[in-house]
Amino acid sequence: MNNKRVIIIGGGIAGLTSACHLIDAGLDVTLFEAAPKLGGRSYSFKHEKSGDIIDNGQHIMMGCYEETIKLLKKIGSFDKLSIQNELRVVFVSRDSQEHYLHAKSSHYPLNLAKSIFNYNALTLKEKIRVVDLFVDLMTIEEEDILDLSVEDWLKKEHQNENAMKDFWEILAIGTLNSRIKDASAAVFVNILKRMFLDGNEATKIILSEAGLSDLFAIPAKRYIEEKGGNVLTSERVLSVSVNNSSFERIVTSKRVISDAEFLVSAVPLYALSRIMDNNNSFKKIHSTMQYSPILSVNIWLKANVFKEKFYGLLNSKIHWLFNHKSYITLVTSAAFNLVEKSENQIINEIISELSDYFPVFSHDNMLSYKIIKEKRATFIPNSESIMLRLNMINEYDNIFIAGDWTEPFLPSTIETAVISGRKAAERIMEKYSNS
Ligand SMILES: Cc1cc2nc3c(=O)[nH]c(=O)nc-3n(C[C@H](O)[C@H](O)[C@H](O)COP(=O)(O)OP(=O)(O)OC[C@H]3O[C@@H](n4cnc5c(N)ncnc54)[C@H](O)[C@@H]3O)c2cc1C
Repeated sequence: MNNKRVIIIGGGIAGLTSACHLIDAGLDVTLFEAAPKLGGRSYSFKHEKSGDIIDNGQHIMMGCYEETIKLLKKIGSFDKLSIQNELRVVFVSRDSQEHYLHAKSSHYPLNLAKSIFNYNALTLKEKIRVVDLFVDLMTIEEEDILDLSVEDWLKKEHQNENAMKDFWEILAIGTLNSRIKDASAAVFVNILKRMFLDGNEATKIILSEAGLSDLFAIPAKRYIEEKGGNVLTSERVLSVSVNNSSFERIVTSKRVISDAEFLVSAVPLYALSRIMDNNNSFKKIHSTMQYSPILSVNIWLKANVFKEKFYGLLNSKIHWLFNHKSYITLVTSAAFNLVEKSENQIINEIISELSDYFPVFSHDNMLSYKIIKEKRATFIPNSESIMLRLNMINEYDNIFIAGDWTEPFLPSTIETAVISGRKAAERIMEKYSNS
């Protein structure tokens, strides 16, 4: 292969993944990132007051993130992951009771069924219905439930209110960052299959021991540059001119490029609609896309009173607590109400809620706090946007679209971004080897 030029727009996980694959294939890669930092919605920074490196929001990964794991091995970051030996989550209810979801032995899938029978937030009847639904998953086709919300589907599958609140809701909100009335059942079913129908490894929860930038962006940049690629930050792509079905010119905030053969767009849909403002199909999908916020409250502690590495909170405005020893991170998904409030209101509400669930924690134990509001953290995988994204036709010969919104049956996650970035690179390599 001679060195054909590829331009990648966007230095989030999708763009960086594409760049790593394309540089491996011997293409001449230049990536433009508008922000001064790489990583997009997955990044970390130094908290000046404590000196700790904190994430813009705690990211949970799972054993079923197969492509993310491959990418991290490629860029030399795999060792920074902490992978559970077996699925184990401690859920806490408002009365401070702990409920364990723990798939103890290695005899899959019996251990999963057993973990549900031992999960004491549900009655025996509810447990049987939950296990039944997991068994039924094997025969449910996503295409058959395209128009159902998660809530409608769970009702149809005879899950009662308590099973929804104390089991399904926390699972759905954690994986989809959406309320069960908003998200599509098809995406939820696809995720459940990936997490629970693919062996023990897939069910394990994975956290990063390093900050997100040290896990993804920094080693990916090093990987690309060591192989001769260019990664340019603080350079926004302003427009892409298209003639017939090919792009001709790319205008950035610093230059005009007209000698590239291929283009990968790895930006969110709202950004792509601005760059390619004459494309009506992107505009149409954009009009159906809704976004969901995530609120992260980091609290530095005088004394750490939490035993577990993380907890799920049932029926709470806090969904997860992550224990980083000197500080904790409290995560609220689909935090529509909370993100609109002032920092003072938020910290008061969060602390009062935390003390209800963990009476060992009191306000006096707080040294300082840092609130991070990500208002457009993820898109909502609703039925309407799936239909349009399913019919998204790539009208271009040399433009390839990546990003966490491009896989219709997957939610907005790191794994989806990695898959989309790898697929865009493979389409280019295929085209290239046929030309
Ligand atoms: C608080 C929070 C918590 C999350 N939790 C989880 C989790 O637990 N597990 C999980 O798997 N996922 C989680 N996610 C989702 C995950 O971070 C995203 O799905 C993923 O990072 C998206 O990557 P991407 O590359 O598709 O898009 P992005 O990260 O949005 O990257 C796009 C990049 O393009 C750049 N860009 C935009 N316009 C231009 C332009 N004109 N020119 C040049 N560059 C441009 C942007 O600056 C950005 O860097 C979370 C997200 C947030 C915000």
